[in-house]
Amino acid sequence: MSRNALLINYQYCSGCHSCEFACRNHLGLSKEQWGIKLTEVEPFEVEPGVWNWDYVPVPTKLCDQCLERVQAGEKPSCVKHCQSFCMEYGPVADMAARAEELGDKTALFIL
Ligand code: SF4
Ligand code: SF4
Repeated sequence: MSRNALLINYQYCSGCHSCEFACRNHLGLSKEQWGIKLTEVEPFEVEPGVWNWDYVPVPTKLCDQCLERVQAGEKPSCVKHCQSFCMEYGPVADMAARAEELGDKTALFIL
């Protein structure tokens, strides 16, 4: 089977945690476990008056790629429930091309 990837256009990630909750429900995890975990690059001043503040969710080793959902033609739960529509999932080559299109602030996780 060809490998798939999760793309996160984190320019638009609001840090809402919906992907974490959707994933936890999908995997049946406890509150202390994450299949995807939001990380935060705390705000810092890049140059006077210009601030950087990023949120980036990162899949963990508990991620099962939502294989059953995907095989049934559904999107992975995290992608489906992302409030900012900034997550995509698909074959690595397609996601790499998409990352190229989107440019800066795009993270690609090969699952
Ligand atoms: S693909 Fe499925 S298992 Fe993996 S992080 Fe997203 S919701 Fe969780
Ligand atoms: S659901 Fe989307 S917007 Fe919310 S934290 Fe996850 S990636 Fe960011």
